[in-house]
Amino acid sequence: MKITDIRTIQLSYRAANPSMSAASFNATRNALIVEIETDAGLTGIAEAGSAGGPPASTAAVIEHELKPLLIGQDPLKIEYLWQLMFGRSRQHGRRGIVMHAISGIDIALWDIAGKAAGMPLYRLFGAFTDQVEVYASGGFYQRGKDLDGLTREAESYVERGFRAMKMKIGRYDFTGTNFRRLLNQPELCVVTPEEDIARVAAVRKALGPNRRLMADANCVWSPATAIKMGKALEPYDLFWLEEPVATDDVDGSAEVARALAISIAGYETEVGLFGYRELITRGAIDIAQPDLVWSGGFTECRKIAALAQAHNMTLSPHCFSSALLFVAALHFAASSPNVVMVEWDQTEHGLRTELLNEPFDYDGAGMMRVPEGPGLGVTLNRDTLEKYRVR
Ligand SMILES: [Mg+2]
Repeated sequence: MKITDIRTIQLSYRAANPSMSAASFNATRNALIVEIETDAGLTGIAEAGSAGGPPASTAAVIEHELKPLLIGQDPLKIEYLWQLMFGRSRQHGRRGIVMHAISGIDIALWDIAGKAAGMPLYRLFGAFTDQVEVYASGGFYQRGKDLDGLTREAESYVERGFRAMKMKIGRYDFTGTNFRRLLNQPELCVVTPEEDIARVAAVRKALGPNRRLMADANCVWSPATAIKMGKALEPYDLFWLEEPVATDDVDGSAEVARALAISIAGYETEVGLFGYRELITRGAIDIAQPDLVWSGGFTECRKIAALAQAHNMTLSPHCFSSALLFVAALHFAASSPNVVMVEWDQTEHGLRTELLNEPFDYDGAGMMRVPEGPGLGVTLNRDTLEKYRVR
């Protein structure tokens, strides 16, 4: 079998009422779809990472840099092709856009491998389970959403059977760093730390004592601010505090982790085995959160999972983009013994709800069944692709 073509499709969805974290204003949600054709009639599909910039940038890396390395190659030599892409691009790659591009290629290659084997990927990887816990990822800042609105949102997750929920925190005018000044629309939905603590208290009350609550600061705090806020939030029994400080402040995150009785989770904004080696071995995190479409696809993230396991550490893959990423995360989770939960974005997002022909198999009690078809086990809805296609 040989790779004959690689195509990308750029998609963009515009949210009616954008959600905001401490570090983002999500007016548009983009996704870059990758399709790899073979001479055997098998086509692999995947999403490649495009967050933080236009999908055209990742598409250009795939088209001009990776595709020439891959045309004519055996698509089942995935480890070799991964090392070829990573090694050849090392001077201007290693992280960022090139790693996002490699991630999409890798997942699409594995989709081909699963289809060639006639097995769903989680079984090809040696299944640990066939259903995984999903948590409701929401609790964003949003215009018009007050404390009552946030409470009603948390109650809606309880009604839908979720056993865990994540919310956003940290959208202050000053967070101990100047990071928030650099962002798009930093002036919207700003709260005080006291108002934020009230938000967490309201959600904890809505969830009751037996459901897990996680809070995500999206890298905006200094270590001192993180420790102060973390201590103030300890009465609300957070299951984890996510990305409290800057991605590159590994020592600062380790300082926060030592100072708090709350587990530190992160860093979705770090990528690759070498990046996670630093986070894990230097004590910067208690729970690892690689994103499949940013952090090297299945090939690299399975190595990150193994490294985490060697440190008795659990993972919860970051997953905040299209339905294709979500399905990839389910296969990864179901085949990794130390994955505890997968993130399920609950914000309004057509590329999550309309992209696939197959509906998600949620049991109404916090668990999601993994698709059983070959490869990723899903197909793209062509009408949706045309509806949201920008290129
Ligand atoms: Mg996060």
